[in-house]
Amino acid sequence: MNFDYTDKVKDMRERLLAFMDQHIYPNEARFFEEISANRAKGNAWVPTAIIEELKPKALAAGLWNLFLPRSPRAPQGLSNLEYAPMCEIMGRVPFAAEVFNCSAPDTGNMETLERYASEPLKDEWLEPLLRGEIRSAFLMTEPEVASSDATNIQCRIERDGNEYVINGRKWWSSGAGDPRCAVYIVMGKTNPEAPRHSQQSMIVVPSNAKGISVLRPLTVFGYDDAPHGHMEVLLENVRVPVENLLLGEGRGFEIAQGRLGPGRIHHCMRSIGAAERAMELMCQRLNSRVAFGKPVSAQSVWHERIADARCRIEMARLLTLKAAYMMDTVGNKVAKAEIAMIKVVAPNMACDVIDMAIQAHGGGGVSGDFPLAYAYASQRTLRLADGPDEVHRQSIAKLELARHMALKTEVEMPITRGF
Ligand SMILES: Cc1cc2nc3c(=O)[nH]c(=O)nc-3n(C[C@H](O)[C@H](O)[C@H](O)COP(=O)(O)OP(=O)(O)OC[C@H]3O[C@@H](n4cnc5c(N)ncnc54)[C@H](O)[C@@H]3O)c2cc1C
Repeated sequence: MNFDYTDKVKDMRERLLAFMDQHIYPNEARFFEEISANRAKGNAWVPTAIIEELKPKALAAGLWNLFLPRSPRAPQGLSNLEYAPMCEIMGRVPFAAEVFNCSAPDTGNMETLERYASEPLKDEWLEPLLRGEIRSAFLMTEPEVASSDATNIQCRIERDGNEYVINGRKWWSSGAGDPRCAVYIVMGKTNPEAPRHSQQSMIVVPSNAKGISVLRPLTVFGYDDAPHGHMEVLLENVRVPVENLLLGEGRGFEIAQGRLGPGRIHHCMRSIGAAERAMELMCQRLNSRVAFGKPVSAQSVWHERIADARCRIEMARLLTLKAAYMMDTVGNKVAKAEIAMIKVVAPNMACDVIDMAIQAHGGGGVSGDFPLAYAYASQRTLRLADGPDEVHRQSIAKLELARHMALKTEVEMPITRGF
């Protein structure tokens, strides 16, 4: 395995770092101030001017849609291994990925449309998503059932002539609070009588279709993440043309598996960026404050913590790069253990490192004056979102156990999920 940056990546990385210094870090406070100002005026659910200002600059700098794998639509596309260092840099600031049109859930939805949608659906939804003109949401999780087991999903997608009729209640639909969110990919049952793993399908639904109600934003430790939001959405007799069904009836799991690899690894790369940023802030703070007669950084307990944090960041990064390398060389299916491993390792590591950085900042650490409290909240959600830790650990354990079985029988894997 060779993790050296290619010349293309070296050049792009330099440009991305310069863009972050020139446009992202200096506008970090402005982003949150703008949302607060919009909230004070009565509506936080409007796109921020700062992101809209920066998007054309990112495009002009050749830093647009970097997540796209190489394809006829994106001949300049990067491999997963090439994208990893870019994604890590973007992960240092929560809103940065959107500036480069690289944010979830749009990236996963774009990949899903690219792989599984018909050409007319691609023209209608993928093209404006690639241009950053609209946004999207992925509607899988439901309040009524344990959705980490995707076979539980109850939403109904029933054929009626040339249309499908959709009825269901979803929550944690990330991005559905944004007025630019024009399209949903919805998971639901087309045939409850089919074998367990052939009941679910995925369908493309315009967000303004009749029968859709966005009921409320959910909060994460009190943050509503406006204007993006994580919404509860009700679908009542929503009708879409049969052509909107992706891939075919009963093939929802196949699509979920297809989108899971890239989406998951992107989250992990950003988690590593968030941890690096926390490490940087922690060290600066510890060096700059004096307590009990010496810099706080001179207390040996902090040496222990910093060393531990550095070891864990490096381990997580190497495992993420290995997973990216395997996805590029042997495919997502063969890399499934590594993908599951990083999905457990990276957010847990990031939570712990950010927690140390919060401690190092004293009361300031839990306030809004530093980016740490919000970073912790975001990383903590990743131990649940896209499948909880336990489900990924279960996959890892089952693969491991299967390797040691005398008689290699098929081990039933949990259907992991992705958004
Ligand atoms: C901020 C955020 C954003 C999200 N965005 C989206 C989105 O855009 N689209 C979308 O569809 N969903 C989204 N989700 C939902 C997320 O994917 C689900 O919350 C997650 O898959 C878990 O499903 P659940 O909440 O129904 O928990 P449940 O399935 O009820 O599980 C609850 C707990 O049970 C335990 N558990 C489950 N399975 C096992 C097991 N096999 N072994 C041991 N313990 C187990 C785990 O501790 C788990 O946390 C988001 C969630 C958050 C917090």
